[in-house]
Order: sequence, then structure tokens, then C-alpha cells
Amino acid sequence: LKGSTDGMTATDKEIERALRPLSFSDFTGQAKILDNLEVFVRAAQQRGDALDHVLLHGPPGLGKTTLSHIVANELNANIKMTSGPVLDKPSDLAGLLTNLQPNDVLFIDEIHRLNPIVEEYLYSAMEDYKIDIMLDSGPNARTVQIKLNPFTLIGATTRAGMLTAPLRARFGISCRLEYYDARLLTSIVQRSSAILGTPIDEMGAYEIARRSRGTPRIANNLLRRTRDFAQVKGNGYINVEIAEIALSALEVDQNGLDDMDNRILSTIIEKFKGGPVGLSTIATACGEESETIEEVYEPFLIQEGFLKRTARGREATEKAYIHLGVVPNYKTGD
Ligand code: ADP
Repeated sequence: LKGSTDGMTATDKEIERALRPLSFSDFTGQAKILDNLEVFVRAAQQRGDALDHVLLHGPPGLGKTTLSHIVANELNANIKMTSGPVLDKPSDLAGLLTNLQPNDVLFIDEIHRLNPIVEEYLYSAMEDYKIDIMLDSGPNARTVQIKLNPFTLIGATTRAGMLTAPLRARFGISCRLEYYDARLLTSIVQRSSAILGTPIDEMGAYEIARRSRGTPRIANNLLRRTRDFAQVKGNGYINVEIAEIALSALEVDQNGLDDMDNRILSTIIEKFKGGPVGLSTIATACGEESETIEEVYEPFLIQEGFLKRTARGREATEKAYIHLGVVPNYKTGD
């Protein structure tokens, strides 16, 4: 998935780690979520209890992993990281759970992709801090119950709608992360430049910010690529001119849409008369996975008013026609 950590090199990961805020006060944006989490963390700490289980959902790159680390830091607890598809068997989960210290955090990324059998085990772990493990099989089969230390599960997902009802019901706290506006992203870009030691002026930071699809991970990536352009084509300093050069070389357009965003819109308009057209048809025509279009591209295109979801499929809006410089047929009476 674009905006996810797949395909990153070791240096990418190191830099991503270096840019990661470590405390509530260091984290920009998502103010409501932060305010609430801060209260819940303090309250749990004062009582000496584990924090209630937390579900974080929203598009990739908005800070779900970062927030989970922050919550664990603020709880003075350890965090163990895993992801839905990695937890193959109940014993994988049992191994993790039995190693948690009291009030530790277990982070499960892509929690909507848990194996149903593993998910079943998670229910009693979340609810009563215990798991029943089956020993042997056949006539010798018996279950033993293992008591766990109280812990907090933080689940992250790009697809809250794909969570089963019983799993969703076991999260006491549920937060939906929103895209960031250009002002918030500008301060994230400025903070990241300071950490990278790259001088940048406010207009340069703003230019990168407003073309980052509302996503801190993308802002940080564009900043790093712009830094390369500044170093090679300029004097190392990022201003709006260098940002323009870098962003157009990276095929990020004036509205911050990238190549795939534009391909999706032009496919709907040029091949399907503006829609409505089904998701899988668009995906095939664009050579991209339906899932990626639905999780990564579409939410932003809808939020920015380029795309509409209707009962009969996806439709391009007037804004999309204007963006691509195409005159809508329905306007010319064709
Ligand atoms: P997610 O888990 O939602 O995919 P991450 O938590 O991995 O997203 O964040 C991706 C990158 O964006 C990280 O490098 C992180 O430093 C940065 N980031 C995310 N949210 C913020 C924020 N609010 N302030 C500063 N940097 C952020």
C-alpha cells in the first residue's frame, strides 16, 4: 500500500523512526483524540489499572503507529508490535500475551486481517485477561486456562468497517484519525526539517504541506525528496522554488494529486463517461488493486470533492472535470 511501510529500506525506516514524535506534546494535530487519550491515560495511571483497549482507524500514514508508541511511553509501559496477518495460529498470540508485563501495550496493526480462530482467542484475553489453550488432540485433548497480566490492546486499521462486531465491541476507546490540514502539515514539515538539519522557509514548508494529501508520512517523504533537489540543484536550502521543482519532478500536481489519483479520475471521465462505475472496473482499468484504491486513494479524492460514491458506483464530480481540463458532456448537451 502506498503510504504504508512496505518496500522501505533500512535507512527509510531509521529516518521514519527519527521523525516520530515521542510524547503527546510533540504530536501535532488530531487534537480531540489527543485530549481524550491524555485523560484516559492519566486516569488509568492514577488507578494503577491497564488502559482500556484502543482502536485507531483511518487511512495509512496519519499517525496510528506513532500514537500507539506515545500512549505506551506516557503509560511508562512496554509496547509489543505485531500485525493481523502475522498472527497465524493461536499459539503465536498466546506467546505474545503471556510475555506482557502488567499494563503493557500490545499493538496489532491491520487488525481487520486477523485469522478468525486467533480473533476468537483474543476475545477472552481482552475481556478477562485470560486465554484457554488446547493441549494435545484426540482423546487426550484438554484445555488449560492461562491467566494474563492486565494489558492494553491497541488495534490499528484502515478498514474499521471490516472489523467483526464482537471484536469492535471489545474496544472501550475508538478513535478515527482525520486527514491533516495544510497548516498542521506545515508545522510537521518544519519540525521534520529541523530534525533532518535541512533549512527551509515557511513558504517552502507550506508548499510541501499543501501537496501532501493531508498525510504526515507523505509530507515527510516529499520533504526528504525535496531535500535531495535542494542539495543537488540548489544550495541546500528549501524555498518555494525548489519545492515546486521537486514536486513537479515527483509528479505531484498543483492540487497535491499524484499520478494514480489523476489516473483514477481520468479513467472514470474518459473511459466511463464520468461514471457511475464500479470499483473493481476502475481498479482493472488503472492497473491497481481495488483494496488500495478504496483504502488509500478514494478517501482523499472524496474528501477533496473530486469523487462521489453513489449506490451505483463511483462518479467524477465537476471539480474533477475542471481539474483535468475536460468539458463535461452533460454540460455541452452531448
Ligand atoms: P500509520 O500507523 O497511521 O500508518 P505512522 O504512525 O506510521 O502512520 O506515521 C507515519 C509517519 O508520519 C511517521 O514517520 C510519523 O513520524 C509521521 N507522523 C504521523 N503523524 C504525525 C504527527 N501528528 N506529527 C508528526 N509526525 C507524524
